[in-house]
Amino acid sequence: MTAFPAELSIPEPVREIARTLESAGHETWCVGGALRDALLGGAPGAASDYDLATAATPQQVQALFRRTKPIGVRFGTVGVLDRDRVLHEVTTFRHDVATDGRHAVVRYGASLEDDLARRDFTVNAIAYHPLRHEWRDPYDGAADLRAGVIRAVGVAAERFREDYLRILRAVRFAARLDFSIDVPTWEAMRANRGGLAGLSAERVRDEWFKGLRTAGAVLRLAELWVEAGVAQVWMPELDLALAQRAKGASHDPLRDPVLLTVAITRDATAVLQRLKASNAELTRARRAVTAPAEPADASALAMRRWRAAVGGAADDLVALYRIRHGGAPEWAEALAASRARGEAVDRGGLAVDGADLQRLGLTAGPVVGRTLDRLLEAVLERPDRNTRDALLALARELG
Ligand code: ATP
Ligand code: MG
Repeated sequence: MTAFPAELSIPEPVREIARTLESAGHETWCVGGALRDALLGGAPGAASDYDLATAATPQQVQALFRRTKPIGVRFGTVGVLDRDRVLHEVTTFRHDVATDGRHAVVRYGASLEDDLARRDFTVNAIAYHPLRHEWRDPYDGAADLRAGVIRAVGVAAERFREDYLRILRAVRFAARLDFSIDVPTWEAMRANRGGLAGLSAERVRDEWFKGLRTAGAVLRLAELWVEAGVAQVWMPELDLALAQRAKGASHDPLRDPVLLTVAITRDATAVLQRLKASNAELTRARRAVTAPAEPADASALAMRRWRAAVGGAADDLVALYRIRHGGAPEWAEALAASRARGEAVDRGGLAVDGADLQRLGLTAGPVVGRTLDRLLEAVLERPDRNTRDALLALARELG
């Protein structure tokens, strides 16, 4: 016997959408992660919005609302925009008819029961009627929520063979909610890990990034990736010794997946390339890996030189230090002070520019760049030299 709260406070815009659908004769329920998180009393990293599942087809949903967005009409999902233009996902009840481990072929005309049966884990297969305040929990997900268990809906091995991404999802939810994984489910994950290689890099990356952002302890997520066999296929560079040391990772408010990947893998660039991360993400990782991790000493001069060397990566390197050492570096104040003084640490911060040098008679081209670099060098040594007159005089001296 499962005790559900008599009433869940569902946001009014969500109820309004449900009311419109129900009035048109289409059964509509709240489903998915937000329900799970609400039952847990607001889980960490809690999903912000209630997904709706409905008997209406995507076309019927689109016809009933003024503003909609086709999010994944092929999979039955339509975004409905409320009065404040906040988007709510409305998905037609589905029944998976065929799966190849990567994609599901879905069919409409399914019931709520069919729809819950195709969901991955019992804790994700609960439904709540936002108007009638009824609960549906055919797989006793509420009991698993109370016990802290991730358990596949139905026959675990079949569910993972339908979609191997569910192996990664099990691991992510276990790490985020600090749940254990039911033994038969765990054994089915291990037995089917061979299918992981067929997943698309993008889906694996999304899972890895979401996992890093939401895990209670990043070390547990990393351990589960290794133990479930995901790391062997997708991330042999994942290093549990590094993850063990990255104590700050679990408390870092930034939870930056790129920096966490840098902190706990032996070759973050290779990992992120394999996962088809964006160029911006790859560039950040590369700089965080190759830049000097900290200034040579706590002096103002060393700080200026370090800032000049690392460029825009300074804040990432501070965050990385916190991840690796569990606290802010002792030179964080020296960095803030250097910034507060407005010290020039790149060509753009100099009191003269290339045009000024050309007016002195330098020919446009590499010689201007080299001179600016030498002026910067002089200003890094002595910031008080960063005035127009002083730099023009120096440039003349340099020839
Ligand atoms: P969160 O959004 O907080 O990561 P969630 O449970 O909402 O968690 P979503 O990916 O948003 O996860 O999916 C919403 C729901 O859709 C899930 O709760 C689950 O019922 C179902 N679902 C999502 N992906 C799959 C999948 N690969 N296989 C089966 N069911 C899935
Ligand atoms: Mg969700």
